[in-house]
Amino acid sequence: MRGLLLGRMQPVHEGHLEVIKIILKEVDEVIIGIGSAQLSHTLKDPFTAGERVMMLTKALSENDIPASKYYIIPIQDIECNSLWVAHTKMLTPPFDYVYSGNPLVQRLFIEDRYKVTAPPLFNRKIYSGTEVRRRMLEGEDWESLVPKSVVDVIKEIDGIGRIKHLSKEEVR
Ligand code: NAD
Repeated sequence: MRGLLLGRMQPVHEGHLEVIKIILKEVDEVIIGIGSAQLSHTLKDPFTAGERVMMLTKALSENDIPASKYYIIPIQDIECNSLWVAHTKMLTPPFDYVYSGNPLVQRLFIEDRYKVTAPPLFNRKIYSGTEVRRRMLEGEDWESLVPKSVVDVIKEIDGIGRIKHLSKEEVR
């Protein structure tokens, strides 16, 4: 059996890793769809799809999850919600279950007759992309919310410099 987990992963954090481990107790393989793959270089979506693939691959390896257990597939957004499930299916290996806490994602897959599960949330107040990005911008501790390998990727690409630069007001 195969499960699909969808997320923007801006950035990958410990909550994502916990939920992937739970899913792998229920299914043989997990497909991790990196949503909004076309977006990057904004305060809400700072990292490219390729950077998010790198974060996830290294974090899964750090957590001893073998590469034979997962597929990481970047998925661009499309204009039509009613066609998005078909668009996603075109890009991914076949799957039996969908895991998402996002009501729109849940609804679209339910209407296509998939079994959809909302995975348990781990410490959502701090394990959230919004909180990690807020801390990055405000110079607070964000490193403890993400796997060590994600810290290394963000340093390699100067992610903090990028977020701080993007938040600047234009100087005239
Ligand atoms: P997200 O990164 O906010 O969350 C992804 C999932 O990770 C959540 O549903 C939840 O299951 C899990 N998660 C997050 N924090 C957790 C924690 N602390 N503990 C346990 N689990 C946790 O991503 P999202 O916004 O739900 O991603 C949906 C993607 O689907 C977006 O990119 C969206 O644009 C895309 N989408 C596109 C269309 C379209 O193109 N028409 C339609 C629907 C959805």
